[in-house]
Amino acid sequence: MQKSKIKNKNYNLKFKNKRLLKDAIDFHGHLGPYLVLGILMGELAIKKLRCKKHFGIGAIVRGAIKKPVSCLIDGIQISTGCTYGKGNIEKKNGKTIQVLFKNLQNNKGIRINLNKNLIVRLGHLNGHKESEAFARGLLKTNYINLFEVN
Ligand SMILES: [Zn+2]
Repeated sequence: MQKSKIKNKNYNLKFKNKRLLKDAIDFHGHLGPYLVLGILMGELAIKKLRCKKHFGIGAIVRGAIKKPVSCLIDGIQISTGCTYGKGNIEKKNGKTIQVLFKNLQNNKGIRINLNKNLIVRLGHLNGHKESEAFARGLLKTNYINLFEVN
């Protein structure tokens, strides 16, 4: 997959890995929008950096200190294989959510932020049921549109 194609907003990226979603829900305990966003961010980072899951990628997560936003971190761990046990994921303070992913083999990195419209919509979610429905909707969207990648 070419870099230019990934940057193109029209590039169609659909999440299809049902097994990964099931594992994520088992691991995390529930389905929520931030868990899904973490999964999708991780998938995007692996595609864009062309790196190997588990040992070939590192993540620094900013602005996801408290629940529910911090649920993002579990999604990232599941989809990238970056784990606290291996030490290739870190959680840091920040005003907004931003994740720096690094290909540990060639040291190339990308920063992924949430799209501004998405941040507004997340802020209006009310209650567990609405959040879960929104999470399911995120799984069906072209996820390149959910993020800003630099
Ligand atoms: Zn959660």
